[in-house]
Amino acid sequence: MVHLGPKPPQHRKGSYLDVPEDLLAELHKFEELFTVSAETLQKITDHFVTELDKGLSKSGGNIPMIPGWVLDFPTGKETGDYLAIDLGGTNLRVVLVKLGGNRDFDTTQSKYPLPSTMRTAKSEDLWDFIAECLKKFVDEEFPHGVSEPLPLGFTFSFPASQNSIKEGYLQRWTKGFDIEDVEGHDVVPMLQCAIEKRKVPIDVVALINDTTGTLVASMYTDPETKMGLIFGTGCNGAYYDVCGDIPKLEGRLDSDIKPDSPMAINCEYGAFDNEHAVLPRTKYDLIIDEQSPRPGQQSFEKMISGYYLGEVLRLVLLDLCARDKIFKGQDLTKLKQAFILDTSFPAKIEEDPYENLSDVQDLFQSVLGIQTTSAERKIIRALAEKIGERSARLAICGIAAICKKRGYKTAHCAADGSVYNKYPGFKERAAKGLRDVFQWETKEDPIIIVPAEDGSGAGAAIIAALTEKRLKEKKS
Ligand code: BGC
Ligand code: MG
Repeated sequence: MVHLGPKPPQHRKGSYLDVPEDLLAELHKFEELFTVSAETLQKITDHFVTELDKGLSKSGGNIPMIPGWVLDFPTGKETGDYLAIDLGGTNLRVVLVKLGGNRDFDTTQSKYPLPSTMRTAKSEDLWDFIAECLKKFVDEEFPHGVSEPLPLGFTFSFPASQNSIKEGYLQRWTKGFDIEDVEGHDVVPMLQCAIEKRKVPIDVVALINDTTGTLVASMYTDPETKMGLIFGTGCNGAYYDVCGDIPKLEGRLDSDIKPDSPMAINCEYGAFDNEHAVLPRTKYDLIIDEQSPRPGQQSFEKMISGYYLGEVLRLVLLDLCARDKIFKGQDLTKLKQAFILDTSFPAKIEEDPYENLSDVQDLFQSVLGIQTTSAERKIIRALAEKIGERSARLAICGIAAICKKRGYKTAHCAADGSVYNKYPGFKERAAKGLRDVFQWETKEDPIIIVPAEDGSGAGAAIIAALTEKRLKEKKS
């Protein structure tokens, strides 16, 4: 499709009359590049379904589809006190969860900021840091000590292979983490060891992906939940499959596990399309991949998740600069710095009301030292919208594919993460994307994305409770 003339598309508010025609033409090109049509979404979803199946097959595929060894649905009646930790990109969160047993829970938590160098620290530093934080937390919450070790659910938001709930062999770091000597190893003993060195009375009983925790926590309060999703620094989803439908589990199941038993699957679908068959990747996506510590990995995630959205915008802006279309004669030193713009940057751009885009002006001035013209701000705003829209539309293909695969006609898909919670327009755009895939004719959407319960707190605790119950039953 060729766009002629300076007339802005309908959705674009404000006047673009002061935007020079060549710049407007550039914008139109970007808009086409970042547009994902309904047909493309359907095509991606269909391919996604076959890739999910491949991931569960014996020979495997690009999507890891990791069995999470949560073999029960939560009933909402689970009770007890549990510790949970969540290692995120910016914080370590430690939570004490009291499960109420009536689809309710209470939490007490502390957040410990990760030292900024942690993403590339030494393995030992990471485990020592976590154990130190745990010690502080336990000393504060249990000043008189404990009679028995506290059971802990460890939310580890990276692809980790599991043969049981008590282990997790890191397949590869994602989201810019790059800590040596962890890939290929089981992270549970590493953490347990650091805990024991400090004599903290804690027993790591379960290793949980954040999506699996989200799934279980949300199902604890809402039985209609079919998926746990994270749209944050990274992106991923979990759902319950059935053991008998997972070919690669053959020979790996204890005799007490029935073929119709549920099994939570951590899809790790950030790795979707690593074979580059369907995603409409742009040259900016290729650069992001090349610059990353793990090129060729997480192709889907790199087009969608928070860790990369600001970077896409930065690369597009740099491209415009290189062709002398914007920021003429300005110092671009900062703009040339990879990852200088985190997701909050494009999010703030989209939050700025159209009238004068003064927040955009301030942001560019303060973060990048760049003075913007009114026309440039309008271009920046329109670009941010398009990048955000593409992210949301692509993101729902994972949801649509799981629904198709499992035959869900209705579903509550529980979502968490900074992009879902904070990125303006994400929710509406995602809902529209699902409508485009399924072309529903009903008045209300049968498959909806809903805000999740606290997966890495409550979810990890409920999974720890389910695990303990299963172990006790096995013993008796
Ligand atoms: C990780 C997943 C995680 C997701 C969201 C991805 O980079 O591989 O394990 O669920 O980020 O945090
Ligand atoms: Mg997280």
